[in-house]
Amino acid sequence: MAGNNGVFRFDGRKFVVTGAARGIGYAIARLVAASGGAVAVLDLEGANPEAAASELRREVENAEILTEICDVSSYDQVRAARDALEARWGRADTLINNAGIAYNAPAEEMSVEEWDRMLKINLSGVFYCSQVFGAPMLQERSGCIVSIASMSGLIVNRPQPQVAYNVAKAGVVMLTKSLAAEWAPRGVRVNAVAPGYISTSLTRAWVGTDAMRDYWLGGTPLGRMGTPEEIAYAVAFLASSGASFVTGETLVADGGYTLW
Ligand code: NDP
Repeated sequence: MAGNNGVFRFDGRKFVVTGAARGIGYAIARLVAASGGAVAVLDLEGANPEAAASELRREVENAEILTEICDVSSYDQVRAARDALEARWGRADTLINNAGIAYNAPAEEMSVEEWDRMLKINLSGVFYCSQVFGAPMLQERSGCIVSIASMSGLIVNRPQPQVAYNVAKAGVVMLTKSLAAEWAPRGVRVNAVAPGYISTSLTRAWVGTDAMRDYWLGGTPLGRMGTPEEIAYAVAFLASSGASFVTGETLVADGGYTLW
């Protein structure tokens, strides 16, 4: 076999990326568009997905970008976004579950409202989108889902107390395995990426703090934070036909943090 036979190109593919107006989601959308794929940017109204789409069109010549306002924690909004996209665009063949929030609080102090909100966005949102966007994939017997979990779904990070985040992300890892097993015979692969500390607005508050230097960087064999682009490459691999024999896997991209 000579070269990579174009397996890392996405020409003719249609990706839905949730939370794609900024951060890791934006980097995924940009890489997909630069590799020939069409992208639907889904995000909250306040995140201004239209502005992100304009930026993507500026950065990537001839990029095909659509937008839909969608709060992934609302099943109705997820269904409405899928129906609107199908009417304009047809069936999406790839879903990237990226939207997520972070919240720190000691377990004994965390309010029930914050617990529920975290689980609803970071775990239920992944299920809602997978079920809704996965249905037409199952019908066509072809499709692919990649969710952004976290190394926090595999280990307990420190020093920040983030019980609800950890639990939600651990749920994404098991949801990935469960959906993969159910849907493999029907042509849909389901995988996840578990990033370590990545430089985005989610982690910005910690940049420059002693805790970041001592725990985060000190605990990372590669000695630095990752970039959104480095996570986008991991996602692109799992979404590509180069990963056609990979399903139910959570690919850890953490600079080695979970080794120690
Ligand atoms: P950002 O906060 O930079 O971007 C997240 C995006 O998701 C924002 O556009 C945000 O909108 C949007 N969003 C938030 N809630 C919802 C919702 N209910 N419905 C739809 N969109 C929503 O975060 P990152 O890029 O850092 O994180 C992306 C994913 O990666 C998350 O799942 C996160 O948990 C995960 N991750 C991040 C790590 C990191 O170190 N950064 C490490 C491990 C995992 P708005 O701007 O309006 O809030």
